[in-house]
Amino acid sequence: MPSLRGIMRARDNYFPELEAQALGLLRAVGHTGGPVPQRVVADMAAHLGYSLHYVADLPHSTRSVTDKRNGRIYLPIEQTASRDTRSPILQAFASALCGHEEPTSYAEFLRQRVETNYLTAAILLPEDDAVKLLAEAKAQRSISMEDLRDAFAVSYETAAHRFTNLATARLGIPVHFMKVHESGTIIKAYENDSVRFPSDALGAVEGTTVCRSWTARTVFDVADRFSPWYQYTDTPSGTFWCTSRIAKAKEGEYSVSVGVPFSETKWFLGRETNNRAVSRCPDESCCRSAPGELAERWAGQAWPAARTPTSLLAALPTGTFPGVDQTEVYQFLESHSPTA
Ligand SMILES: [Zn+2]
Repeated sequence: MPSLRGIMRARDNYFPELEAQALGLLRAVGHTGGPVPQRVVADMAAHLGYSLHYVADLPHSTRSVTDKRNGRIYLPIEQTASRDTRSPILQAFASALCGHEEPTSYAEFLRQRVETNYLTAAILLPEDDAVKLLAEAKAQRSISMEDLRDAFAVSYETAAHRFTNLATARLGIPVHFMKVHESGTIIKAYENDSVRFPSDALGAVEGTTVCRSWTARTVFDVADRFSPWYQYTDTPSGTFWCTSRIAKAKEGEYSVSVGVPFSETKWFLGRETNNRAVSRCPDESCCRSAPGELAERWAGQAWPAARTPTSLLAALPTGTFPGVDQTEVYQFLESHSPTA
């Protein structure tokens, strides 16, 4: 069976059937263009037969809980100031819209999560509107993730990830995307531009450590957190130009990066940057092993205890919905059920 990453690459991370579903829903509630307001998202929920209920005791491990029997979506009363209030609602009904059943394997859980996130982004950044904006920007050689983010009032990560859906299929630009924890651990990665991600013995990219010279790492050393960060990086598989931004989360800071091969740089704002780096990874001498003198002095004298990042523990497969306490969810639904 082809891997999820393989399927995404083969389809340039573009899924017409999910685009069509998003478009159908936008039309059904009469949205005619521009950013999608919270009110329209609530209309979509109602159109699909769901009522929204904001509660104070949502199970800790969840962002929302859907009662399929009674057509209710439970959401937390308290929203973090920076968090988009539309996404949790969209994600809640996106699963139903995609026809998801309870996942029977971890691979299926991951596939469902990809589809849910795709549909959510396709609603928040409708294909036609987003392509129009990006095509105009391309014509002016000024494509910018920040502009895409601001035009649709979404997070940088949502805008950057959405760009990967449309970049190749609709704009003819190969692209890569990374979400990297401050520890250097790769959380998400996608490419169809031949950039070479690190991978473990089983071929997994998520959970491995990215080169210290890549934009996804160097951005953490930049003092200015408000301006976009651009960098050219020479790698053994060619020169890439990347733009990156830092986001804060409970587990620490993350960088979100979008990059293209050198030849495609001409379409983007920030191509004139003087920031340059050289990456020789996976060559050990690039950034994996300590500099000679330091290594000579300390080899055999250090015994560190590793701390497993919580973000990775949370990704380990347990139960039907990894990281979610099913009993807690059932108890919660029982206590809130209108038919109890
Ligand atoms: Zn390196």
